[in-house]
Order: sequence, then structure tokens, then C-alpha cells
Amino acid sequence: MSLVVVGTVAFDAIETPFGKTDKIIGGAATYSGTSAAYFTKNIKLVSVVGDDFPLDMIGEFKRMGMATDGLQIKNGQKTFFWSGRYHVDMNTRDTLDTQLNVLLDFDPVIPDSYQDCEFLMLSNLMPQLQKKVIERIHKRPKLIVMDTMNFWMETQWDALMDTIKLVDVLTVNDSEARQLTHEYSLVKAAQKILRMGPKYLIIKKGEHGALLFHKDQVFFAPALPLEDVFDPTGAGDSFAGGFIGYLAQTRDVSFGNMKRGIIYGSAMASFCVEKFGLERLIALKQDEIDERVQEFVDLVQFDIALV
Ligand code: AMP
Repeated sequence: MSLVVVGTVAFDAIETPFGKTDKIIGGAATYSGTSAAYFTKNIKLVSVVGDDFPLDMIGEFKRMGMATDGLQIKNGQKTFFWSGRYHVDMNTRDTLDTQLNVLLDFDPVIPDSYQDCEFLMLSNLMPQLQKKVIERIHKRPKLIVMDTMNFWMETQWDALMDTIKLVDVLTVNDSEARQLTHEYSLVKAAQKILRMGPKYLIIKKGEHGALLFHKDQVFFAPALPLEDVFDPTGAGDSFAGGFIGYLAQTRDVSFGNMKRGIIYGSAMASFCVEKFGLERLIALKQDEIDERVQEFVDLVQFDIALV
């Protein structure tokens, strides 16, 4: 059994009301894989970087338990670069720059050692590449989770629609759900998205938590009210990594277990935002995760005796 994680491995430059970074390591697969590694060790990474990417970070991926045979290093090319600026509310951001670089001619290779994939995390990437990965895994995984973003809705709509219909779980944020469907009501948007193909839909609402939709069922998980939020970059990816990592660990893809997965995902996202970049996520201890999950349980637990 393995969890294959595909998506960007990147350099990011981030501005928040609390500060600004030069190029730091980021990328959707970096955050998802790092977060999932706290739950399951058999993770296999598919991505591409240029020869400007530090080799010791690839060593760090391995140390965390990620196989990197599917991580291509392209000589003479530059790693994907993204830059963003957060608004004062920290819930919304503007993309300042997206340089696809090495992604432009990326052809994902799935090594034979990855063919035992049971869980597939399609983190943010060009939708046609996400689709290629699905096609190149010979046996359909038990669960395919896909994340995407507004950039692909604006630039690759048809390919996005083609890929969305192949996955089991789609994760988007609230503004992306509205952009996908032209519906303001998230309930109506969810109904429309579920008709596009996925059986489950997760709508992330930043500091307002996340919603899980399946048929006519809905589950809501809050986000933890945090004293300090320094940098929301990667929160969505850490959420998805925690979610699928927990499902892979427990090997249970029922709706009931997905509810637990959402709490674990929310806990991982809450760590991610506490420091810039990967800094907090990369250095967690198991008891910190357990305590954080307990805080979520305490946050929403109440007794009401209905007469
Ligand atoms: P999140 O904050 O969870 O939406 O993810 C932020 C990460 O996504 C950053 O580390 C970026 O490197 C990466 N990213 C930004 N734009 C894209 C894009 N268009 N495709 C793939 N990854 C992206």
C-alpha cells in the first residue's frame, strides 16, 4: 500500500502583514507530502524541479519517509516559482507572479515501484498532468483526492472539467467553489460540483473551517481560533495531506472516517499557518498533533438534552 503525492515542488516568495520572505521552499506537493508523512510512511512523490533546487531538501523529503524516484531534476532549468501577497484579513491573497518554468514541459513518470498506489493525492498542478497521473497508475487507487485553484479555472477550464470527473474527492476553497459554479450559496455550489463527477467535496473556508459534502449529507469542522497566524501559504495543502494521510493510515474511506480525516487535516493546517513557509510543519512532534486534535474535539463538544 502506498500514498502517491503529485503536485508542485516550488520556490515561493510571500508577503503578509507580518513580513516578507525571499525565495523559500514551498509547493503544493511539498506541503501535502510533509503533512501526510505524520500519518503514513509509505509516501511516493511525483514532481519536477530545476537544478536550482537544493539537494538537501530532497534529502529532507527522504528523511520524512517520502520516496523521490518520481521527482525529476531538470538540468539547466528553473524550479516553479510562485509569489503571493496576503490581505490584512489573511483569508484572501493576490497572486503576484506564477512562473511555470520547469512545469512547462513536465511529463510525470510513474516508476514501477509506485504502482502499488492505493491512495492518490493530486495536489495543485496543471489539470491535464493530474489526469495523466491517474491514467499512468495501472490499477485504480482506492481513493483519489484532487486539489485545484483559481489559476487553473482561469487558464485551463476544459482540462480541469475533464480531470474533476475522474476523482473521488475534490477540495477547493469557498471562492473557488463559487467560481466553478457561479453560485453564491455554497450548498447550491456543492450540489453542482458533485454533479461534475466527484463523490465527495470539501470546501475550505480558511479561518472559518471546512465543509464536507456527500450526496445529501454535510459535515462541518471549525478551524481552531489561533492567536497568531503568520502565513497561510500551504494551509490548504497541509489540510489535504493530513486528510488523505489519516485515511491511508486507517485504510477506511467511509464518510464517517472522512469526518475524522477532516479534523486531522484541520489540525495540520493550523500548525502550518503559525510560522512562515514549512518551518512549523516540518518540525512537529506526535504529541503536539494529538494535543491539537484534542483541542478541536473540545472546541465543538457540547451536551444538549432535547426534550
Ligand atoms: P495553498 O496556500 O494551500 O493554496 O498552497 C500554496 C502553494 O501552492 C505554494 O507553496 C505554491 O508554490 C503552490 N502554488 C501556487 N500556485 C500554484 C499553481 N498554479 N499550481 C500549483 N501550485 C501552485
